[in-house]
Amino acid sequence: MKKEFLNEKIETMGPDELRPIQEQKFLKQIDYVWERSQFYQKKFKDHGVTRSHIKGLDDLHKLPFTEKDELRKSQEETPPLGSHCIVPIDDIIRIQSSSGTTGVPTFVGITRHDHQVWTDITARSLFSKSVRPTDVVIHAVGLTFFVGGLPVKDAIEHIGAAFVPIGTGASDRVVMTTKRLEGNVLHCTPSYAQYFADYVRKNHNMEPSELGFEKLVVGAEPGGGVPAIKKRLQADYQSLVSEGMGNSDAAPIIFGECPAQQGMHFCAQEYIFPELIDPDSGHVMDMKDGAEGELVYTLIDRECCPVVRFRTRDRITVFTDPCACGRTSFRIRCIGRTDDMLIILGVNVFPSAIKDVITSFRPRVTGDMIILLDKPGPAVTPPLKIQVEYSPDEKDLGTLKKELEGRLRDKLVFKADVELVSEGTLPRFEMKANYIRKLYEE
Ligand SMILES: [Zn+2]
Repeated sequence: MKKEFLNEKIETMGPDELRPIQEQKFLKQIDYVWERSQFYQKKFKDHGVTRSHIKGLDDLHKLPFTEKDELRKSQEETPPLGSHCIVPIDDIIRIQSSSGTTGVPTFVGITRHDHQVWTDITARSLFSKSVRPTDVVIHAVGLTFFVGGLPVKDAIEHIGAAFVPIGTGASDRVVMTTKRLEGNVLHCTPSYAQYFADYVRKNHNMEPSELGFEKLVVGAEPGGGVPAIKKRLQADYQSLVSEGMGNSDAAPIIFGECPAQQGMHFCAQEYIFPELIDPDSGHVMDMKDGAEGELVYTLIDRECCPVVRFRTRDRITVFTDPCACGRTSFRIRCIGRTDDMLIILGVNVFPSAIKDVITSFRPRVTGDMIILLDKPGPAVTPPLKIQVEYSPDEKDLGTLKKELEGRLRDKLVFKADVELVSEGTLPRFEMKANYIRKLYEE
């Protein structure tokens, strides 16, 4: 494999060399936060911890976690950006929104320096996802509001690739522009890539592979790492599918999947300090190969809205064995978000894992499915009701239902009640997939 990096020095650095850089930045940042952030001054005081307790990253665990709800509350109580925003408005050059998948969206401001940091991390992630200066990137994601838009434009331009902003809800324009400009990279959500593949078959009478995308760069939801979805996209487009993951309160894209396709590399080495924790006890876990837990971020180079030990609610698996691409950072797969998790008789089940099993039945099913919940989760009394679309060619629905339920039980250890519905019944998601339908009043 060709070894290519955006910043070879930092991306191939060993942990012994990186740690002192992170230590130094962390101590500078924690001084800054302690001095200026009313939000953290109060939080640290309430937690009974003083500045003298924190001598380095080994003491990080002494500081309390920051939850998304606290940032939301801080913003409601101290408008416009909250008491965790610690620069005057004239230093802020942009205000972005979190995507608001859970609750009221929050805003996040960045200074000129923060903008450079965001661009650097996001570009490093996109470069690891194989975006190169010679590429023409068709951007089928909205530019406004959320961090998958403008910051990605900045990063793609920083790499030196040609950025073509198209946005969402414009599939005909994606087809036309891709042909005329010979676009070779499609940047979108995995849901859109699946939707768009069906769209071009139906409306343009062509195979998605005929559009000539060499690379599919996906993110904003776990789909790109779900094996059956990834396999389907690779087959549909005949191209390399690389996923990425970010966080609007930390940086737009923080992880990027290299061509070795063994998980997403951490790409914010000198900007964000990551921790892995047990989501139930909050204990810090070793970032060792195969470990599973929740990601926690401490920003170590942020001016506007720094966060310390921010709980992302992203559940991940860690890989630390050496990677063929030459990058030394750890890799992850995202299993799902804690907020989406269901607990069925004590077993944790993520909707993306159910989607993986259902999609593996293609072409007998379309791959579209929805989980029906009668009552608020996460605890669900089995059987879990799932609607699955079958293909028009499938004749023996009784057997299909039994096989689907059997595979779900074998792979994910829960009892399902699958209802087969005809093609086109379930909603298609152009932006982000929502695999759960709530049948109760909220
Ligand atoms: Zn790699």
